[in-house]
Amino acid sequence: MQEVKQPSKKPLIFYYLIAMLILMVLNMTFFPAILEKQVKEVSYTDFMSMTYENNIGLVQIEGEEITFTDKAQENVYQTVAIDSDTELVQRVYDHGGELNRIDTQPGLITSILVGWVLPLLPFLLIGWLLRRRMQKAMGGGDGMMFGMGGGSGARMYVPSSTGIRFSDVAGEEEAKELLGEIVDFLHDPEKYRRIGARLPKGALLVGPPGTGKTLLAKAVAGEANVPFFSIAGSEFVEMFVGRGAAKVRDLFKQANEKAPCIVFIDEIDTIGKKRDGQLAGNDEREQTLNQLLTEMDGFDGSKGVVVLAATNRPDSLDPALLRPGRFDRRIPVELPDLQGRIDILKVHAKKIRLAEDVDFQAVAKTAAGASGAELANIVNEAALRAVRSGRQYATQEDLQESVEVVIAGYQKKSRVLSDQEKKIVAYHETGHALVAAMQSHSAPVQKITIIPRTSGALGYTLQVDEGDHFLMSKEELLNKIATYTGGRAAEELVFHSITTGASNDIEQATKLARAMVTRYGMSEEFGFVAFETMTNQYLGGDTALACSPETQARVDERVTELVTGQYEKAMKILKENEDKLHRLAQYLYVHETITGQEFMNLLEQDAPSGTVSP
Ligand code: ADP
Ligand code: MG
Ligand code: ZN
Repeated sequence: MQEVKQPSKKPLIFYYLIAMLILMVLNMTFFPAILEKQVKEVSYTDFMSMTYENNIGLVQIEGEEITFTDKAQENVYQTVAIDSDTELVQRVYDHGGELNRIDTQPGLITSILVGWVLPLLPFLLIGWLLRRRMQKAMGGGDGMMFGMGGGSGARMYVPSSTGIRFSDVAGEEEAKELLGEIVDFLHDPEKYRRIGARLPKGALLVGPPGTGKTLLAKAVAGEANVPFFSIAGSEFVEMFVGRGAAKVRDLFKQANEKAPCIVFIDEIDTIGKKRDGQLAGNDEREQTLNQLLTEMDGFDGSKGVVVLAATNRPDSLDPALLRPGRFDRRIPVELPDLQGRIDILKVHAKKIRLAEDVDFQAVAKTAAGASGAELANIVNEAALRAVRSGRQYATQEDLQESVEVVIAGYQKKSRVLSDQEKKIVAYHETGHALVAAMQSHSAPVQKITIIPRTSGALGYTLQVDEGDHFLMSKEELLNKIATYTGGRAAEELVFHSITTGASNDIEQATKLARAMVTRYGMSEEFGFVAFETMTNQYLGGDTALACSPETQARVDERVTELVTGQYEKAMKILKENEDKLHRLAQYLYVHETITGQEFMNLLEQDAPSGTVSP
């Protein structure tokens, strides 16, 4: 994609005026002196001898002074006239001289050229450099000094063959279909007008970070053969009050001139936050938002200006933005499902050299819950790993390992656990895996490792679901909590002491249990009532409690009950399978990593003791 800037010329006018002024002064004082032809003072004798040598050109006699040139009329000489030399005129004539005026002033063209055009060149050069700097500064969003004159700072993209296309965005079929309609409308508005269909003025891309919202918008630009204005929400909010609103105005003015075209506002939540009327409210932001609302009402949708925006905090957007006639179409860009992950891996794998037997499905399964950005990162990590090990191409193992790198960080080579610590970690992780394996409705264990990672994890157990999972039953959730508690339970069972190693497990288990009680209506006491609402579903999912303090206390009791119950269940499972626990943990302690297959083999070495139902 090529970027075409909309430069603002205003601030430079002053610069050129000053340049002109400087030139004027120079032309009145300094230039005439250097421009005048240099006149050499010579004696009268020299004049006479030059005449006799026939080396004489123009001669001008004026009062006391004689000005003359040599034959070639290159040099100008001057001497004092002598009254007694009466034959002067005749002599000059005889030796080929010409009596005439000698003009020592430069010609008009020369003087304009030398006096104005040449000196102007350096000024123009400096002006050009200034303008380039100004554009750069405005593009970077920090060019306060030069950026004040105007211009929205919006980058305008012209379609080019190197741009991102829909084919570069894997998965997200629904989003592509909805956006495809917009592209189609911009190609052929008449088709829609004939039927009387009115396309939405604006479409809002919402979804978690890294799912390809920005990428999709760029792909629309690549597909649509129309100008594409792109600006980030943060660029509207600047140091000076009122600038944001002015930028919005400018942006839409430009867009209207260039219609049909697309305006893309990335991270629109920066300016589109709810106007909550709090004292500490941001005046500037509100002005900008109001201007945006006005502009979106103002422009004529049938002209072909489509406004796209992206955000990962749709719930914080001002409702006025979302009403019909503004961003009335909402395009969800969700985390990819299994097939989506496979496709995304394939798109990015095209950029690196891979072994032929790579199984994308297996990699995609391990990377459950990964966003497009993380998958892109996984592929790149695999390539880096291949380079590090001096291979020509990345292998399946590289990919698998980089999934773990992205999930848990790099393997830590330097952290040395004491023998006892290593033993505890081995039992802890085996506890998780064993509890998971002994319950029905639990994803199979794929890998257990006790190699410390840079994220701080001393070990982890990887469980991989077959296929996609959209609903979770109460039973599955309970089993999951039991699996979380399995680590701590194993520590207690074997060492009769507990460590800090379970803090993350405790957090996860509690979160799940709390969600079961307050949001999923899965407790007997409360049933079908919600006490918590999700506020920020795409960014970690904060929750806000909405119940009386008394209820809150009871909720806490239920949560504690739930988790404790599952802890006891996990303990029971481990006690019943203590021989397996020892065997697996010893093996893990020695080998540091167990694959899913090895795990199953070890598990089934003696008579299976049957699965335990909750
Ligand atoms: P966001 O939704 O936060 O705007 P981006 O569009 O910036 O995410 O995506 C970041 C990167 O992740 C992209 O540049 C691309 O490499 C990768 N990516 C995300 N989603 C996809 C996808 N569906 N297909 C291919 N690559 C993707
Ligand atoms: Mg983005
Ligand atoms: Zn654990």
